[in-house]
Amino acid sequence: MSKYDVAIIGSGPGGYVAAIRCAQLGMKTAIIEKYPTLGGTCLNVGCIPSKALLDSSEHFHQAAHQFETHGIKINAPEVDMEKMIGRKDDVVSQTCDGVAYLMKKNKIDVLQGIGSFEDATHIKVKGDDGEQTIEAKKTIIATGSKPGNLPFIELDKERVITSTEALMLKEVPKHMIVIGGGVIGLELGSVYLRLGAEVTVVEYMDRIIPTMDSAMSKELMKVLKKQGMKFHLSSQVNAVERNGDSVLVKATDKKDKALELEGDYCLVSVGRRPFTEGLNLEAAGLKTNDKGQVEVNEHMQTEVKNIFAIGDVVRGAMLAHKAEEEGTYVAEFMNGEKPHIDYNLIPNVVYTWPEVASVGKTEEELKEAGVAYKTGSFPFKALGRARASMDTDGQVKILADKETDEILGMHICGPRAADMIAEGVVAMEYRASAEDIARMSHAHPTFTEAIKEAAMAATENRPIHL
Ligand code: FAD
Ligand code: NAD
Repeated sequence: MSKYDVAIIGSGPGGYVAAIRCAQLGMKTAIIEKYPTLGGTCLNVGCIPSKALLDSSEHFHQAAHQFETHGIKINAPEVDMEKMIGRKDDVVSQTCDGVAYLMKKNKIDVLQGIGSFEDATHIKVKGDDGEQTIEAKKTIIATGSKPGNLPFIELDKERVITSTEALMLKEVPKHMIVIGGGVIGLELGSVYLRLGAEVTVVEYMDRIIPTMDSAMSKELMKVLKKQGMKFHLSSQVNAVERNGDSVLVKATDKKDKALELEGDYCLVSVGRRPFTEGLNLEAAGLKTNDKGQVEVNEHMQTEVKNIFAIGDVVRGAMLAHKAEEEGTYVAEFMNGEKPHIDYNLIPNVVYTWPEVASVGKTEEELKEAGVAYKTGSFPFKALGRARASMDTDGQVKILADKETDEILGMHICGPRAADMIAEGVVAMEYRASAEDIARMSHAHPTFTEAIKEAAMAATENRPIHL
Protein backbone atom coordinates (compact mmCIF):
# COMPACT_ATOMS: atom_id res chain seq x y z
CA MET A 1 0.00 0.00 0.00
CA SER A 2 1.37 3.44 -0.94
CA LYS A 3 1.86 5.71 2.03
CA TYR A 4 1.84 9.51 1.94
CA ASP A 5 2.36 12.40 4.33
CA VAL A 6 -0.59 14.11 2.67
CA ALA A 7 -3.30 13.15 0.19
CA ILE A 8 -5.39 15.79 -1.51
CA ILE A 9 -8.78 14.91 -2.95
CA GLY A 10 -9.62 17.19 -5.87
CA SER A 11 -7.26 18.99 -8.27
CA GLY A 12 -8.97 22.38 -8.65
CA PRO A 13 -7.12 25.60 -7.73
CA GLY A 14 -7.48 24.71 -4.04
CA GLY A 15 -6.20 21.15 -4.39
CA TYR A 16 -3.38 21.58 -6.88
CA VAL A 17 -1.94 24.65 -5.15
CA ALA A 18 -2.09 22.82 -1.79
CA ALA A 19 -0.28 19.86 -3.42
CA ILE A 20 2.52 22.04 -4.80
CA ARG A 21 3.02 23.87 -1.50
CA CYS A 22 3.02 20.57 0.46
CA ALA A 23 5.62 19.14 -1.92
CA GLN A 24 7.71 22.32 -1.69
CA LEU A 25 7.71 21.88 2.08
CA GLY A 26 9.03 18.34 1.75
CA MET A 27 5.87 16.28 2.25
CA LYS A 28 5.32 13.11 0.24
CA THR A 29 2.17 14.14 -1.60
CA ALA A 30 -0.56 12.50 -3.67
CA ILE A 31 -3.39 14.25 -5.49
CA ILE A 32 -6.55 12.33 -6.37
CA GLU A 33 -8.73 13.53 -9.25
CA LYS A 34 -11.72 11.72 -10.67
CA TYR A 35 -11.55 13.40 -14.11
CA PRO A 36 -8.82 12.65 -16.65
CA THR A 37 -7.61 16.27 -16.64
CA LEU A 38 -6.38 18.27 -13.67
CA GLY A 39 -7.46 21.80 -12.73
CA GLY A 40 -11.00 21.28 -11.46
CA THR A 41 -13.95 23.53 -12.23
CA CYS A 42 -11.78 26.62 -12.67
CA LEU A 43 -9.58 25.32 -15.46
CA ASN A 44 -11.98 22.92 -17.16
CA VAL A 45 -15.45 24.49 -16.97
CA GLY A 46 -15.07 27.75 -15.05
CA CYS A 47 -12.68 30.68 -14.91
CA ILE A 48 -10.46 29.85 -17.87
CA PRO A 49 -12.98 28.76 -20.55
CA SER A 50 -15.40 31.54 -19.60
CA LYS A 51 -12.65 34.15 -19.92
CA ALA A 52 -11.56 32.66 -23.26
CA LEU A 53 -15.10 33.08 -24.61
CA LEU A 54 -15.46 36.51 -23.03
CA ASP A 55 -12.32 37.64 -24.86
CA SER A 56 -13.39 36.10 -28.20
CA SER A 57 -16.86 37.61 -27.99
CA GLU A 58 -15.44 41.01 -27.01
CA HIS A 59 -13.21 40.97 -30.11
CA PHE A 60 -16.28 40.15 -32.21
CA HIS A 61 -18.29 42.91 -30.57
CA GLN A 62 -15.55 45.46 -31.20
CA ALA A 63 -15.22 44.39 -34.82
CA ALA A 64 -18.97 44.64 -35.30
CA HIS A 65 -19.61 47.87 -33.40
CA GLN A 66 -16.46 49.84 -32.67
CA PHE A 67 -13.97 49.40 -35.51
CA GLU A 68 -15.87 51.81 -37.72
CA THR A 69 -15.61 54.61 -35.17
CA HIS A 70 -11.86 53.96 -34.98
CA GLY A 71 -11.71 54.43 -38.76
CA ILE A 72 -11.30 50.74 -39.57
CA LYS A 73 -13.44 49.46 -42.42
CA ILE A 74 -14.21 45.74 -42.53
CA ASN A 75 -17.02 43.63 -43.92
CA ALA A 76 -19.61 42.66 -41.30
CA PRO A 77 -17.90 39.99 -39.17
CA GLU A 78 -19.42 36.52 -38.79
CA VAL A 79 -19.23 34.15 -35.87
CA ASP A 80 -17.58 30.75 -36.42
CA MET A 81 -18.87 29.02 -33.33
CA GLU A 82 -16.97 25.79 -33.91
CA LYS A 83 -13.67 27.66 -34.14
CA MET A 84 -14.43 29.90 -31.18
CA ILE A 85 -15.27 26.92 -28.96
CA GLY A 86 -12.28 25.04 -30.39
CA ARG A 87 -9.91 27.86 -29.40
CA LYS A 88 -11.44 27.87 -25.93
CA ASP A 89 -10.84 24.10 -25.72
CA ASP A 90 -7.20 24.59 -26.73
CA VAL A 91 -6.71 27.22 -24.03
CA VAL A 92 -8.26 24.83 -21.49
CA SER A 93 -6.13 21.87 -22.47
CA GLN A 94 -2.89 23.91 -22.47
CA THR A 95 -3.74 25.21 -19.01
CA CYS A 96 -4.64 21.75 -17.65
CA ASP A 97 -1.45 20.30 -19.15
CA GLY A 98 0.42 23.03 -17.31
CA VAL A 99 -0.94 21.70 -14.01
CA ALA A 100 0.06 18.14 -14.94
CA TYR A 101 3.59 19.46 -15.65
CA LEU A 102 3.69 21.18 -12.26
CA MET A 103 2.67 17.94 -10.53
CA LYS A 104 5.50 16.11 -12.26
CA LYS A 105 8.00 18.86 -11.55
CA ASN A 106 7.13 18.76 -7.85
CA LYS A 107 7.17 14.93 -7.73
CA ILE A 108 3.51 14.72 -6.72
CA ASP A 109 1.79 11.40 -7.44
CA VAL A 110 -1.37 11.95 -9.49
CA LEU A 111 -3.93 9.23 -8.82
CA GLN A 112 -6.81 9.22 -11.29
CA GLY A 113 -10.09 8.08 -9.74
CA ILE A 114 -12.81 8.84 -7.23
CA GLY A 115 -11.40 9.21 -3.76
CA SER A 116 -13.49 7.89 -0.90
CA PHE A 117 -12.60 7.49 2.76
CA GLU A 118 -12.30 4.00 4.26
CA ASP A 119 -11.38 5.59 7.58
CA ALA A 120 -9.60 8.77 8.69
CA THR A 121 -6.22 7.68 7.28
CA HIS A 122 -7.14 5.40 4.37
CA ILE A 123 -8.57 6.46 1.03
CA LYS A 124 -9.83 4.19 -1.69
CA VAL A 125 -9.14 5.46 -5.21
CA LYS A 126 -11.43 3.94 -7.83
CA GLY A 127 -10.15 4.85 -11.27
CA ASP A 128 -10.57 3.83 -14.87
CA ASP A 129 -7.64 1.42 -14.46
CA GLY A 130 -8.81 -0.26 -11.26
CA GLU A 131 -8.89 0.34 -7.55
CA GLN A 132 -6.26 0.92 -4.87
CA THR A 133 -6.16 2.02 -1.26
CA ILE A 134 -3.58 4.50 -0.03
CA GLU A 135 -2.61 5.55 3.47
CA ALA A 136 -2.27 9.26 4.25
CA LYS A 137 -1.22 10.80 7.57
CA LYS A 138 -3.14 13.92 6.59
CA THR A 139 -5.82 14.57 3.98
CA ILE A 140 -7.08 17.78 2.39
CA ILE A 141 -10.60 17.67 0.97
CA ALA A 142 -10.74 20.01 -2.05
CA THR A 143 -13.72 18.58 -3.90
CA GLY A 144 -15.18 21.93 -4.93
CA SER A 145 -18.70 22.62 -6.09
CA LYS A 146 -21.29 21.89 -8.79
CA PRO A 147 -23.94 24.14 -10.37
CA GLY A 148 -26.95 24.72 -8.13
CA ASN A 149 -30.54 24.47 -9.35
CA LEU A 150 -34.09 25.31 -8.31
CA PRO A 151 -36.13 22.31 -7.15
CA PHE A 152 -38.72 22.56 -9.92
CA ILE A 153 -36.30 22.95 -12.83
CA GLU A 154 -35.31 19.95 -14.90
CA LEU A 155 -31.84 20.61 -16.29
CA ASP A 156 -31.92 18.73 -19.59
CA LYS A 157 -28.46 20.15 -20.42
CA GLU A 158 -29.56 20.80 -24.03
CA ARG A 159 -31.93 23.75 -23.79
CA VAL A 160 -32.17 24.19 -20.03
CA ILE A 161 -28.51 24.44 -19.19
CA THR A 162 -25.88 25.32 -16.60
CA SER A 163 -22.62 27.20 -17.12
CA THR A 164 -20.92 23.94 -18.14
CA GLU A 165 -23.10 23.51 -21.24
CA ALA A 166 -23.13 27.27 -21.93
CA LEU A 167 -19.36 27.00 -22.46
CA MET A 168 -19.81 24.56 -25.33
CA LEU A 169 -22.89 25.61 -27.32
CA LYS A 170 -22.81 24.79 -31.01
CA GLU A 171 -24.79 27.86 -32.03
CA VAL A 172 -25.52 31.39 -30.92
CA PRO A 173 -28.90 31.30 -29.18
CA LYS A 174 -31.69 33.45 -30.61
CA HIS A 175 -32.98 34.28 -27.16
CA MET A 176 -31.19 33.14 -24.02
CA ILE A 177 -33.14 33.51 -20.80
CA VAL A 178 -30.81 33.74 -17.83
CA ILE A 179 -32.13 32.87 -14.39
CA GLY A 180 -29.97 34.68 -11.84
CA GLY A 181 -28.23 38.03 -12.39
CA GLY A 182 -25.06 37.08 -10.52
CA VAL A 183 -21.55 36.53 -11.85
CA ILE A 184 -22.15 33.54 -14.12
CA GLY A 185 -25.42 34.88 -15.55
CA LEU A 186 -23.88 38.23 -16.47
CA GLU A 187 -20.55 36.88 -17.75
CA LEU A 188 -22.02 34.15 -19.95
CA GLY A 189 -25.04 36.30 -20.80
CA SER A 190 -22.52 38.91 -22.06
CA VAL A 191 -20.75 36.33 -24.22
CA TYR A 192 -23.91 35.50 -26.15
CA LEU A 193 -25.27 39.05 -26.16
CA ARG A 194 -22.06 40.20 -27.89
CA LEU A 195 -22.36 37.35 -30.39
CA GLY A 196 -25.83 38.54 -31.36
CA ALA A 197 -28.28 36.73 -29.06
CA GLU A 198 -31.16 38.44 -27.32
CA VAL A 199 -30.46 37.98 -23.61
CA THR A 200 -33.00 38.44 -20.82
CA VAL A 201 -31.99 38.16 -17.18
CA VAL A 202 -34.54 37.28 -14.49
CA GLU A 203 -33.20 38.14 -11.04
CA TYR A 204 -34.86 37.45 -7.70
CA MET A 205 -33.32 40.41 -5.86
CA ASP A 206 -33.95 44.08 -6.64
CA ARG A 207 -30.52 44.48 -8.22
CA ILE A 208 -27.99 42.50 -10.21
CA ILE A 209 -24.71 41.32 -8.56
CA PRO A 210 -26.51 41.81 -5.23
CA THR A 211 -23.50 41.05 -3.03
CA MET A 212 -21.43 43.88 -4.50
CA ASP A 213 -21.65 47.61 -3.73
CA SER A 214 -25.03 48.85 -4.98
CA ALA A 215 -23.42 51.70 -6.95
CA MET A 216 -21.62 49.03 -9.01
CA SER A 217 -24.89 47.11 -9.57
CA LYS A 218 -26.52 50.28 -10.87
CA GLU A 219 -23.58 51.25 -13.03
CA LEU A 220 -23.18 47.80 -14.58
CA MET A 221 -26.90 47.40 -15.24
CA LYS A 222 -26.99 50.80 -16.97
CA VAL A 223 -24.16 49.77 -19.32
CA LEU A 224 -25.46 46.24 -19.97
CA LYS A 225 -28.88 47.72 -20.80
CA LYS A 226 -27.16 50.05 -23.25
CA GLN A 227 -25.54 46.97 -24.80
CA GLY A 228 -29.02 45.46 -25.21
CA MET A 229 -29.34 43.08 -22.25
CA LYS A 230 -32.85 43.00 -20.77
CA PHE A 231 -33.63 42.66 -17.08
CA HIS A 232 -36.53 41.62 -14.88
CA LEU A 233 -35.55 42.35 -11.29
CA SER A 234 -37.45 41.36 -8.12
CA SER A 235 -38.85 38.47 -10.11
CA GLN A 236 -39.21 34.92 -8.87
CA VAL A 237 -39.09 32.13 -11.42
CA ASN A 238 -41.65 29.44 -10.67
CA ALA A 239 -41.63 27.21 -13.76
CA VAL A 240 -39.39 26.33 -16.69
CA GLU A 241 -41.00 24.28 -19.46
CA ARG A 242 -39.31 22.86 -22.52
CA ASN A 243 -41.29 22.36 -25.72
CA GLY A 244 -39.11 21.00 -28.52
CA ASP A 245 -36.48 23.64 -29.23
CA SER A 246 -38.13 26.33 -27.18
CA VAL A 247 -38.16 27.03 -23.47
CA LEU A 248 -40.85 28.87 -21.55
CA VAL A 249 -39.86 30.57 -18.29
CA LYS A 250 -42.64 31.67 -15.96
CA ALA A 251 -42.05 34.11 -13.12
CA THR A 252 -43.88 36.56 -10.91
CA ASP A 253 -42.66 39.99 -9.90
CA LYS A 254 -42.95 41.49 -6.41
CA LYS A 255 -46.43 42.80 -7.18
CA ASP A 256 -47.45 39.25 -8.15
CA LYS A 257 -47.63 40.21 -11.80
CA ALA A 258 -47.05 37.18 -14.01
CA LEU A 259 -44.20 37.17 -16.51
CA GLU A 260 -43.73 34.68 -19.34
CA LEU A 261 -40.59 34.57 -21.45
CA GLU A 262 -40.00 32.33 -24.42
CA GLY A 263 -36.53 31.56 -25.67
CA ASP A 264 -34.46 28.80 -27.22
CA TYR A 265 -32.04 28.41 -24.30
CA CYS A 266 -32.41 28.93 -20.55
CA LEU A 267 -29.23 29.32 -18.50
CA VAL A 268 -29.76 28.50 -14.84
CA SER A 269 -27.18 30.42 -12.80
CA VAL A 270 -28.58 30.67 -9.29
CA GLY A 271 -25.41 29.80 -7.37
CA ARG A 272 -23.30 26.70 -6.85
CA ARG A 273 -23.43 23.99 -4.20
CA PRO A 274 -20.55 22.31 -2.37
CA PHE A 275 -19.73 18.86 -3.72
CA THR A 276 -18.99 15.89 -1.45
CA GLU A 277 -20.75 13.00 -3.22
CA GLY A 278 -18.78 9.76 -3.28
CA LEU A 279 -16.35 10.91 -0.58
CA ASN A 280 -17.86 8.62 2.06
CA LEU A 281 -17.25 11.27 4.72
CA GLU A 282 -18.99 9.21 7.41
CA ALA A 283 -16.25 6.57 7.29
CA ALA A 284 -13.78 9.28 8.31
CA GLY A 285 -16.06 10.49 11.09
CA LEU A 286 -17.26 13.58 9.20
CA LYS A 287 -20.56 14.93 7.95
CA THR A 288 -21.68 18.00 6.03
CA ASN A 289 -23.63 20.94 7.52
CA ASP A 290 -27.09 22.05 6.33
CA LYS A 291 -25.50 23.97 3.44
CA GLY A 292 -23.71 20.82 2.28
CA GLN A 293 -20.32 22.25 3.30
CA VAL A 294 -17.57 20.48 5.20
CA GLU A 295 -17.24 22.36 8.50
CA VAL A 296 -13.78 23.69 9.33
CA ASN A 297 -12.18 25.88 12.00
CA GLU A 298 -10.01 28.96 11.30
CA HIS A 299 -7.16 26.63 10.25
CA MET A 300 -9.38 24.81 7.70
CA GLN A 301 -9.21 21.80 10.03
CA THR A 302 -12.26 19.54 10.34
CA GLU A 303 -13.35 17.98 13.61
CA VAL A 304 -11.13 15.02 12.67
CA LYS A 305 -7.79 16.74 13.28
CA ASN A 306 -5.75 15.14 10.47
CA ILE A 307 -8.38 16.04 7.84
CA PHE A 308 -8.58 19.54 6.37
CA ALA A 309 -10.92 21.07 3.79
CA ILE A 310 -10.51 24.08 1.51
CA GLY A 311 -12.09 25.97 -1.38
CA ASP A 312 -15.68 25.84 -2.60
CA VAL A 313 -16.50 22.87 -0.37
CA VAL A 314 -16.11 25.03 2.78
CA ARG A 315 -17.64 28.33 3.93
CA GLY A 316 -16.85 31.61 2.22
CA ALA A 317 -16.67 33.00 -1.30
CA MET A 318 -16.56 30.45 -4.11
CA LEU A 319 -13.53 31.91 -5.84
CA ALA A 320 -10.45 30.29 -7.33
CA HIS A 321 -8.00 32.65 -5.64
CA LYS A 322 -9.71 32.12 -2.26
CA ALA A 323 -9.29 28.35 -2.74
CA GLU A 324 -5.62 28.89 -3.67
CA GLU A 325 -4.93 30.96 -0.55
CA GLU A 326 -6.53 28.26 1.58
CA GLY A 327 -4.44 25.57 -0.15
CA THR A 328 -1.23 27.40 0.70
CA TYR A 329 -2.49 28.12 4.22
CA VAL A 330 -3.20 24.48 5.04
CA ALA A 331 0.15 23.25 3.68
CA GLU A 332 2.03 25.83 5.77
CA PHE A 333 -0.12 25.23 8.85
CA MET A 334 0.57 21.48 8.60
CA ASN A 335 4.27 22.36 8.42
CA GLY A 336 4.05 24.14 11.78
CA GLU A 337 4.06 27.66 10.33
CA LYS A 338 1.68 30.49 11.21
CA PRO A 339 0.08 31.52 7.91
CA HIS A 340 -2.67 34.12 7.64
CA ILE A 341 -5.56 34.90 5.30
CA ASP A 342 -7.46 38.18 5.46
CA TYR A 343 -10.79 37.25 3.88
CA ASN A 344 -11.78 40.93 3.77
CA LEU A 345 -8.99 41.45 1.24
CA ILE A 346 -9.97 38.73 -1.21
CA PRO A 347 -11.00 40.66 -4.32
CA ASN A 348 -14.16 39.94 -6.26
CA VAL A 349 -14.41 40.39 -10.02
CA VAL A 350 -17.14 40.20 -12.66
CA TYR A 351 -15.58 39.90 -16.12
CA THR A 352 -18.25 41.71 -18.09
CA TRP A 353 -17.21 44.74 -20.14
CA PRO A 354 -16.85 47.04 -18.38
CA GLU A 355 -15.52 44.78 -15.63
CA VAL A 356 -16.55 45.15 -12.01
CA ALA A 357 -14.03 44.57 -9.25
CA SER A 358 -14.10 45.19 -5.55
CA VAL A 359 -12.17 44.66 -2.35
CA GLY A 360 -13.06 45.34 1.27
CA LYS A 361 -16.40 46.56 2.50
CA THR A 362 -19.32 47.78 0.44
CA GLU A 363 -21.15 50.98 1.41
CA GLU A 364 -24.13 48.84 2.49
CA GLU A 365 -21.92 46.78 4.82
CA LEU A 366 -20.39 49.90 6.40
CA LYS A 367 -23.84 51.40 6.95
CA GLU A 368 -25.09 48.20 8.53
CA ALA A 369 -22.04 48.01 10.81
CA GLY A 370 -22.52 51.65 11.84
CA VAL A 371 -19.03 52.67 10.65
CA ALA A 372 -18.53 56.38 9.98
CA TYR A 373 -17.15 56.61 6.44
CA LYS A 374 -16.61 59.00 3.56
CA THR A 375 -16.68 58.26 -0.16
CA GLY A 376 -14.88 59.52 -3.21
CA SER A 377 -15.83 58.62 -6.77
CA PHE A 378 -14.40 59.38 -10.18
CA PRO A 379 -16.06 58.57 -13.53
CA PHE A 380 -13.99 57.09 -16.37
CA LYS A 381 -15.58 59.53 -18.81
CA ALA A 382 -13.43 62.29 -17.29
CA LEU A 383 -10.24 60.36 -18.09
CA GLY A 384 -8.17 60.94 -21.23
CA ARG A 385 -7.07 57.29 -21.41
CA ALA A 386 -10.68 56.10 -21.30
CA ARG A 387 -11.72 58.49 -24.08
CA ALA A 388 -8.77 57.33 -26.21
CA SER A 389 -9.94 53.73 -26.01
CA MET A 390 -13.70 54.44 -26.07
CA ASP A 391 -14.10 52.92 -22.60
CA THR A 392 -15.81 55.79 -20.84
CA ASP A 393 -18.45 53.83 -18.90
CA GLY A 394 -18.13 53.30 -15.18
CA GLN A 395 -16.46 54.79 -12.14
CA VAL A 396 -14.07 54.15 -9.27
CA LYS A 397 -15.50 54.47 -5.78
CA ILE A 398 -13.37 54.53 -2.65
CA LEU A 399 -14.74 54.23 0.87
CA ALA A 400 -12.52 55.50 3.67
CA ASP A 401 -12.82 55.83 7.42
CA LYS A 402 -14.24 59.26 8.25
CA GLU A 403 -11.75 59.89 11.06
CA THR A 404 -8.55 58.13 10.03
CA ASP A 405 -8.92 58.18 6.21
CA GLU A 406 -7.97 54.45 6.12
CA ILE A 407 -9.32 52.82 2.96
CA LEU A 408 -12.14 50.44 3.86
CA GLY A 409 -13.30 49.46 0.39
CA MET A 410 -12.50 50.00 -3.28
CA HIS A 411 -15.08 49.38 -5.99
CA ILE A 412 -14.45 49.74 -9.70
CA CYS A 413 -16.81 49.37 -12.60
CA GLY A 414 -14.75 50.10 -15.67
CA PRO A 415 -12.11 49.04 -18.17
CA ARG A 416 -9.55 46.58 -16.77
CA ALA A 417 -11.08 46.81 -13.30
CA ALA A 418 -10.05 43.18 -12.72
CA ASP A 419 -6.37 44.07 -12.98
CA MET A 420 -6.62 47.49 -11.36
CA ILE A 421 -8.22 46.20 -8.14
CA ALA A 422 -4.78 44.84 -7.14
CA GLU A 423 -3.87 48.43 -6.23
CA GLY A 424 -6.73 48.45 -3.72
CA VAL A 425 -5.66 45.08 -2.29
CA VAL A 426 -2.06 46.24 -1.79
CA ALA A 427 -3.18 49.56 -0.32
CA MET A 428 -5.55 47.90 2.12
CA GLU A 429 -3.06 45.16 3.06
CA TYR A 430 -0.71 47.93 4.19
CA ARG A 431 -3.60 49.88 5.73
CA ALA A 432 -3.07 52.86 3.44
CA SER A 433 -5.17 55.99 3.74
CA ALA A 434 -7.00 57.49 0.76
CA GLU A 435 -4.48 60.33 0.93
CA ASP A 436 -1.60 57.84 0.51
CA ILE A 437 -3.04 56.82 -2.87
CA ALA A 438 -3.91 60.41 -3.74
CA ARG A 439 -0.25 61.42 -3.25
CA MET A 440 1.26 58.53 -5.23
CA SER A 441 2.19 59.13 -8.85
CA HIS A 442 0.06 57.17 -11.33
CA ALA A 443 1.35 56.93 -14.88
CA HIS A 444 -0.42 59.11 -17.44
CA PRO A 445 -2.44 58.27 -19.39
CA THR A 446 -3.69 55.12 -17.63
CA PHE A 447 -6.99 53.90 -16.27
CA THR A 448 -5.38 53.83 -12.80
CA GLU A 449 -5.52 57.62 -12.72
CA ALA A 450 -9.20 57.18 -11.92
CA ILE A 451 -8.15 55.45 -8.67
CA LYS A 452 -5.90 58.37 -7.74
CA GLU A 453 -8.68 60.87 -8.54
CA ALA A 454 -11.26 58.88 -6.51
CA ALA A 455 -8.77 58.83 -3.61
CA MET A 456 -8.38 62.62 -3.92
CA ALA A 457 -12.17 62.92 -3.87
CA ALA A 458 -12.37 60.76 -0.75
CA THR A 459 -9.56 62.65 1.02
CA GLU A 460 -10.64 66.26 0.73
CA ASN A 461 -13.08 66.24 -2.13
CA ARG A 462 -10.39 67.67 -4.40
CA PRO A 463 -10.19 65.64 -7.60
CA ILE A 464 -8.20 67.50 -10.23
CA HIS A 465 -9.99 66.47 -13.40
CA LEU A 466 -13.64 66.82 -12.33
P1 FAD B 1 -12.97 22.79 -7.96
O1 FAD B 1 -12.28 23.67 -8.90
O2 FAD B 1 -14.43 22.61 -8.12
O3 FAD B 1 -12.24 21.39 -8.05
C1 FAD B 1 -12.69 20.27 -7.35
C2 FAD B 1 -12.13 19.04 -8.02
O4 FAD B 1 -12.37 17.92 -7.19
C3 FAD B 1 -12.81 18.70 -9.35
O5 FAD B 1 -11.83 18.53 -10.35
C4 FAD B 1 -13.55 17.39 -9.08
O6 FAD B 1 -13.60 16.53 -10.19
C5 FAD B 1 -12.69 16.80 -7.98
N1 FAD B 1 -13.39 15.82 -7.13
C6 FAD B 1 -14.58 16.01 -6.49
N2 FAD B 1 -14.86 14.91 -5.74
C7 FAD B 1 -13.85 14.04 -5.94
C8 FAD B 1 -13.58 12.75 -5.44
N3 FAD B 1 -14.36 12.15 -4.54
N4 FAD B 1 -12.45 12.13 -5.86
C9 FAD B 1 -11.61 12.72 -6.74
N5 FAD B 1 -11.82 13.95 -7.24
C10 FAD B 1 -12.92 14.61 -6.83
N6 FAD B 1 -13.58 31.95 -9.75
C11 FAD B 1 -12.72 32.98 -9.85
O7 FAD B 1 -12.02 33.27 -8.87
N7 FAD B 1 -12.60 33.71 -10.99
C12 FAD B 1 -13.35 33.44 -12.08
O8 FAD B 1 -13.22 34.12 -13.10
C13 FAD B 1 -14.27 32.37 -12.03
N8 FAD B 1 -15.04 32.07 -13.08
C14 FAD B 1 -15.89 31.00 -13.02
C15 FAD B 1 -16.68 30.74 -14.11
C16 FAD B 1 -17.57 29.69 -14.09
C17 FAD B 1 -18.42 29.39 -15.29
C18 FAD B 1 -17.64 28.87 -12.92
C19 FAD B 1 -18.57 27.70 -12.88
C20 FAD B 1 -16.86 29.13 -11.81
C21 FAD B 1 -15.98 30.22 -11.84
N9 FAD B 1 -15.20 30.56 -10.75
C22 FAD B 1 -14.35 31.62 -10.82
C23 FAD B 1 -15.26 29.80 -9.49
C24 FAD B 1 -14.08 28.82 -9.41
O9 FAD B 1 -14.11 27.97 -10.53
C25 FAD B 1 -14.15 28.02 -8.13
O10 FAD B 1 -14.25 28.89 -7.02
C26 FAD B 1 -12.91 27.16 -7.97
O11 FAD B 1 -12.77 26.28 -9.05
C27 FAD B 1 -12.97 26.36 -6.67
O12 FAD B 1 -11.83 25.59 -6.55
P2 FAD B 1 -11.80 24.26 -5.69
O13 FAD B 1 -10.38 23.78 -5.77
O14 FAD B 1 -12.39 24.47 -4.37
O15 FAD B 1 -12.77 23.23 -6.44
P1 NAD C 1 -24.22 34.04 -7.76
O1 NAD C 1 -24.45 33.79 -6.33
O2 NAD C 1 -23.15 34.98 -8.18
O3 NAD C 1 -25.55 34.58 -8.44
C1 NAD C 1 -26.75 33.91 -8.36
C2 NAD C 1 -27.85 34.91 -8.59
O4 NAD C 1 -29.06 34.20 -8.73
C3 NAD C 1 -28.02 35.88 -7.42
O5 NAD C 1 -28.06 37.20 -7.91
C4 NAD C 1 -29.34 35.46 -6.81
O6 NAD C 1 -30.04 36.52 -6.21
C5 NAD C 1 -30.06 34.90 -8.02
N1 NAD C 1 -31.11 33.93 -7.72
C6 NAD C 1 -31.11 32.96 -6.77
N2 NAD C 1 -32.28 32.28 -6.80
C7 NAD C 1 -33.02 32.83 -7.79
C8 NAD C 1 -34.32 32.58 -8.31
N3 NAD C 1 -35.07 31.63 -7.79
N4 NAD C 1 -34.77 33.33 -9.34
C9 NAD C 1 -34.01 34.32 -9.86
N5 NAD C 1 -32.77 34.61 -9.39
C10 NAD C 1 -32.28 33.87 -8.38
O7 NAD C 1 -24.01 32.59 -8.42
P2 NAD C 1 -23.55 32.16 -9.86
O8 NAD C 1 -23.58 33.31 -10.80
O9 NAD C 1 -24.32 30.93 -10.19
O10 NAD C 1 -22.05 31.76 -9.61
C11 NAD C 1 -21.73 30.73 -8.66
C12 NAD C 1 -20.42 30.97 -8.00
O11 NAD C 1 -19.34 30.86 -8.92
C13 NAD C 1 -20.37 32.35 -7.38
O12 NAD C 1 -20.32 32.19 -5.99
C14 NAD C 1 -19.12 32.96 -7.87
O13 NAD C 1 -18.31 33.35 -6.81
C15 NAD C 1 -18.41 31.89 -8.68
N6 NAD C 1 -18.03 32.52 -9.96
C16 NAD C 1 -17.11 33.51 -9.92
C17 NAD C 1 -16.78 34.17 -11.07
C18 NAD C 1 -15.78 35.28 -11.01
O14 NAD C 1 -15.06 35.37 -10.03
N7 NAD C 1 -15.69 36.14 -12.01
C19 NAD C 1 -17.38 33.85 -12.27
C20 NAD C 1 -18.32 32.84 -12.28
C21 NAD C 1 -18.63 32.17 -11.10
